Amino acid sequence: MTDWSPRTRAVHTGTRRSQYGEVAEAIYLTQGFVYDSAEQAEARFIETGPDEFIYARYGNPTVRMFEDRIADLEGTEDAFATASGMAAVNGALCGLLKAGDHVVSAKALFGSCLYILEEVLTRYGVEVTFVDGTDLDAWRNAVRDDTKAVFLETVANPTLEVVDLNSVAEIAHAKGALVLVDNVFATPVFGHALRDGADVVIYSATKHIDGQGRCLGGVICGTKEFIRKTAEPYLKHTGGALSPFNAWVMLKGLETVHLRCNAQATSALEIATALEGHNKLAKLAYPHLPSHPQYEVAKRQMDTGGTVVALSVDGGKEAAFRFLNALQIVTISNNLGDSKSLVTHPATTTHQRLTDAQRDALGIDDGMVRLSVGLEDAGDLLADITQALAQV
Ligand SMILES: *Cc1c(COP(=O)(O)O)cnc(C)c1O
Repeated sequence: MTDWSPRTRAVHTGTRRSQYGEVAEAIYLTQGFVYDSAEQAEARFIETGPDEFIYARYGNPTVRMFEDRIADLEGTEDAFATASGMAAVNGALCGLLKAGDHVVSAKALFGSCLYILEEVLTRYGVEVTFVDGTDLDAWRNAVRDDTKAVFLETVANPTLEVVDLNSVAEIAHAKGALVLVDNVFATPVFGHALRDGADVVIYSATKHIDGQGRCLGGVICGTKEFIRKTAEPYLKHTGGALSPFNAWVMLKGLETVHLRCNAQATSALEIATALEGHNKLAKLAYPHLPSHPQYEVAKRQMDTGGTVVALSVDGGKEAAFRFLNALQIVTISNNLGDSKSLVTHPATTTHQRLTDAQRDALGIDDGMVRLSVGLEDAGDLLADITQALAQV
């Protein structure tokens, strides 16, 4: 199985067939499991084997199939699936850290990730230092002998700034700190977080893994030691488990994740290339365009530039709103990685909670629009975007 390519493994790995020999993976929609005897129940609570289950908050066969498949794709020993991406971020950090620990984090983060690092961890006595993720000297100065972990988004939401994971991991590992990454924008298809030095790779499966806007889900990928001894004890007792139905949707999502992500990234590059320099745009960022400030890093770290393009419409909020409202195919929403193309105005939605100064520091201006490129025809999308820009 190990010499199969990722596309083959994404279709087959982890499948556990029941005695009925079903083709599609079964949905084990059950909270609990029965035991043949009291002795068997006792034994299972002492040690649970790979094909044994106790309660769906701890594990479930459909959830396990998804965990095994994503761990295999990511190249990690194990994985723990969660109810959402945020349950995964929270579970990995809270499972690992305790009062008095020190963490260094990139400051350009998804709003809810920032909330966990800035408000939740600090409330429980964890010290967090924020740095500009693209500034390696800032990482070098912030990581200390007693730093327990570093946290970053490999590609930041929504600015698409790319962190040099290899270099940050080297800095962190030199001090014995664990490297945890939120790899949503790089996707399990284009990013190679483990190869580049990450110890723990976290996904919101809500995004590209489902890829069709149906279910919330998340997953933590890492060593058996981290997953079973650090993440699982916290998660199984605090209730962040993924539902078997959602796990099934994610499992089926993995079968098409390569096809979808590659098609979406091809369109994203085509759209970004065509729009660069447009007279209604003050800025455009796409990691695989040479104009991107971390172009070299992005080329080394990711097989494509991803499925998201960051635009800044000239004329601030009013111009951006006019653009959004004029779009006909692309719809206004706040998800990403979906088969439907979606636009978001971060300053008034996902990043509304931040102060003007915080938004400035992250490079989120009032004209900024995050475009998540879907599976529609790229020519149709470009025509729609171009007509909407003409109305600005
Ligand atoms: C969406 C997102 C999350 C949170 O995922 P949910 O499934 O919505 O909880 C975390 N990090 C990044 C980068 C995201 O885009």
